[in-house]
Amino acid sequence: MNYKRRETTVVQIGNTPLGGSHPIRIQSMTNTSTMDTEGSVQQCIRIIEAGGEYVRLTAQGVREGENLQHIRARLRELGYHTPLVADIHFNPKAAAAAAQTVEKVRINPGNFGDPVADFIPFLNVCKAHNTAIRIGVNHGSLSERMMAKYGDTPRGMVESCMEFLRVCVAENFANVVLSIKASNTYVMVQTVRLLVATMDREGMAFPLHLGVTEAGDGEDGRIKSAVGIGTLLREGIGDTIRVSLSEDPEAEIPVARFLVDYASQQLRITNYELRVEIVDMPFDVVPDTSFIVVSNPASQSSARVVCATYHEPDLDAFRLKAATDCGAFFLDNLADGIKLTNTAPNITPQDVQSVAFGILQATGRRITKTEYISCPSCGRTLFDLQAAIKKVKAATQHLVGLKIAIMGCIVNGPGEMADADYGYVGAGAGKVSLYKGKECVLKNIPEADAVAELLQLIESQ
Ligand code: SF4
Repeated sequence: MNYKRRETTVVQIGNTPLGGSHPIRIQSMTNTSTMDTEGSVQQCIRIIEAGGEYVRLTAQGVREGENLQHIRARLRELGYHTPLVADIHFNPKAAAAAAQTVEKVRINPGNFGDPVADFIPFLNVCKAHNTAIRIGVNHGSLSERMMAKYGDTPRGMVESCMEFLRVCVAENFANVVLSIKASNTYVMVQTVRLLVATMDREGMAFPLHLGVTEAGDGEDGRIKSAVGIGTLLREGIGDTIRVSLSEDPEAEIPVARFLVDYASQQLRITNYELRVEIVDMPFDVVPDTSFIVVSNPASQSSARVVCATYHEPDLDAFRLKAATDCGAFFLDNLADGIKLTNTAPNITPQDVQSVAFGILQATGRRITKTEYISCPSCGRTLFDLQAAIKKVKAATQHLVGLKIAIMGCIVNGPGEMADADYGYVGAGAGKVSLYKGKECVLKNIPEADAVAELLQLIESQ
């Protein structure tokens, strides 16, 4: 049986069409200031050379929207013709400015404005310039109107997307890509499935962009991304992906490439030894092999265990394969435990166990460490996010079960840090605000004091 992708319409994005039978595209986003033309150009080039097929840049205002033309012109001058995408929140004027220059504009319907009064004039600019758009919904940033009607639910996210999409259809605008992202893999997978079912019902087949937001970095970021993106790719859903890591943007590309190649070329049942066994053993016991991790200390005496065996000497590849293969079993509640084996001699039992625990954590089935939610940063970030993540992690990794968000900006950070218990959010150059849940409890404190203040805040509760 061959891999079968969901049939979608083709969207023309500069010289790189998306959807239909075109390859699943991979992309990333810059984290330079969009006003820094040379710095942005250099980072775009690093992303392109790593294999990025689209490059997105933030355009928070008209100035940034207009400066995209200089970045684009410089790239073209240097021989790079990769399509550029502008990322817009809150500002329809910036969207209109960017749409005259770049090949695609992403808007967030949660904060773009009115779906008719603001959106139709923007579509007209896109039509005039052959600019594609992405309607990109994020968990945590729905409009007040949608929140009042549906709450921050999968249905609310789908309706938020469909409301703008129906305007596109009514206006005969077909160059549309959709995305619904969340940092919670369960929410992300279920909501994208719901979006696909809703489009099917309405006879629409627009292509999809997949991503897990605020996935973090390192092993956790890779496993979370593979669980969310890999699960959907395996189901034939997804025409382009962005892996959001809190690392240099070009580091996202090989991970994305691997996921696309692995998930789309092989079917779950045929690619290696994978089975679900019913084992008779008490829950919450880690046997001698150290390879079985049971996820749920329930009172039953048998468990459904996903058993997967690899011969994979590359640790990153092993993480991505195992998370892609096994994640869906936990998201769909088809298994209670996992038994991973890797026969490559350089992979240690500790490596294997760490991946197994990582998959259970990423699917929310068993929490064994502090959970970090961190954005990849972008042109809105005014401090060294990667360094901040390192410091926060070093100070809080003993706090098993807590969810701590580390976000680059105050504009989108607080909304998108999901259900984090605490948030460390960039508030300006060298300034950080601290959140307890959704409430800002310390504003604009100097970055140098912020980690100690965070710890104090947590310990005082
Ligand atoms: S939360 Fe992070 S990625 Fe999102 S807009 Fe702010 S800085 Fe950029």
